[in-house]
Amino acid sequence: MKVLVINSGSSSIKYQLIEMEGERVLCKGIAERIGLDGSRLVHRVNEEKHVIEKDLPDHEEALKLVLNTLVDENLGVIKDLKEIDAVGHRVVHGGEKFKESVFVNEEVIKAIEEVSPLAPLHNPANLMGIKAAMKLLPGVPNVAVFDTAFHQTIPQKAYLYAIPYEYYEKYGVRRYGFHGTSHRYVSKRAAEILGKKLEELKIITCHIGNGASIAAVKHGKCVDTSMGFTPLEGLVMGTRSGDLDPAIPFFIMEKEGISPQEMYDILNKKSGVYGLSKGFSSDMRDIEEAALKGDEWCKLILDIYDYRIAKYIGAYAAAMNGVDAIVFTAGVGENSPITREDVCSYLEFLGVKLDKQKNEETIRGKEGIISTPDSRVKVLVVPTNEELMIARDTKEIVERLGKR
Ligand code: AMP
Repeated sequence: MKVLVINSGSSSIKYQLIEMEGERVLCKGIAERIGLDGSRLVHRVNEEKHVIEKDLPDHEEALKLVLNTLVDENLGVIKDLKEIDAVGHRVVHGGEKFKESVFVNEEVIKAIEEVSPLAPLHNPANLMGIKAAMKLLPGVPNVAVFDTAFHQTIPQKAYLYAIPYEYYEKYGVRRYGFHGTSHRYVSKRAAEILGKKLEELKIITCHIGNGASIAAVKHGKCVDTSMGFTPLEGLVMGTRSGDLDPAIPFFIMEKEGISPQEMYDILNKKSGVYGLSKGFSSDMRDIEEAALKGDEWCKLILDIYDYRIAKYIGAYAAAMNGVDAIVFTAGVGENSPITREDVCSYLEFLGVKLDKQKNEETIRGKEGIISTPDSRVKVLVVPTNEELMIARDTKEIVERLGKR
C-alpha cells in the first residue's frame, strides 16, 4: 500500500509518499510560497533535490503540481496516480471532538471547521489540503491525524485552568496540547528500543524543536503536556515565550500602548530564544556556537532554556509518581548533546546517569539509549517521524473500514 502524507500549511504543502511495505519513503518535498510571488516545488527522491519554479495561486494548484511530479517521467516515483491507495493529512486541532485519527467524510470536515476557531491559522489551511486531495484524487480515502488527539486522555485536573468555569463551557478554554503525533511515535518507539511493553512504562517525552513541548506518558496514555490552550504555553521556544505570569502582557500593553493582537504576536514571534538574545537568533545552533566561544549572555540563554525543560521533567515525574524513561526528540532534542547533558545534570536525584560518550555520538538522525547501563531512569534519543505515524494510522483505518 502507498500512502501520500500531506501537511498543508497556510502557504505550503509538505508531502511524503510512503510505501507501507517496509515503510519506505519513495519521495518527499514541499510546495512553498503558495499564493505568493516566487512559489515553487522542492521535490526530493533519495538525496536528489529538484526545484520546479511555478506560479501556485492556491492549494489546489499546488497539490496538482505535486501529483503531476509524482508521476513525472523523470522526477516521478509512480507510473499512475491510481497507485496512491490513501492520503493521510496532518490536522493541527481536533478540539475535544477527535480523540484519535479518523476517516474523512463530510461530517468530519464540518467538525474540523467547527473547531477552527481554536486554531484559526492552521485548521483552515489543513482543510484546504483535504479538500484539494478529495477533488484531485476522487475515490481515494482520506484520513485526518490530529496533533491534539494523543493528549485527549489528559485528566480534568491537568486540563482545566483556574479561571471562571464558564470560559471552558462557552469557548472550550482548556489545555489541549500539541505535537501529539510526535509524542505518541517516540514513546512507542522508546518502549520498543527498551524491549518493554508501553503499558508498563512511565515515559517523559521531550519534543524540543523550534516549537517545543513535553508530555507525561503513563502506560501508553498521555496524562499531561506542557503546551496548553495554544502552543504558547510551557517551554522556552525559538520565538515563543512559554510560561509567564499572565499579568505581564497586560502590563506591557499598557506601558507600550499596543493592542492585544500586537502583544500576542510579540509572545509568539518575538519572544523565547529570539527575544532573550535581543533579536540575534531563534536558532539554538547560533546560541550554542556563541556560548562555546565564551559569550556570557548566550550561556545564560542556554541556562534559562535547559532549566525550564528540567523543571517540567521534575513536575511530570511527580505527576506520574515515577519515571522509567526520558526521551529527547526534534531539532534540538535529536542534535544537541549540550542541552541534553545540561538537562540531565538536574536529574541525578531521579537516578539519571548520562553516558557522555553516547550522548555526544547520538546525533543527526541516530537513535538509542544515552544513559549508562546502571542508570535507574533510561534516557533515549529517538528521531521523531510524524509522517510515518500519519501513514500508519491511515493504513490501519482504511484497512479496518475496508476502504481499500
Ligand atoms: P524542528 O522544529 O524540530 O525542525 O527543530 C528546529 C530547531 O532545531 C532549529 O531552530 C535549531 O534551533 C535546532 N537545531 C537543529 N540542529 C541543531 C544542532 N545541531 N544543535 C542545536 N540545535 C539544533
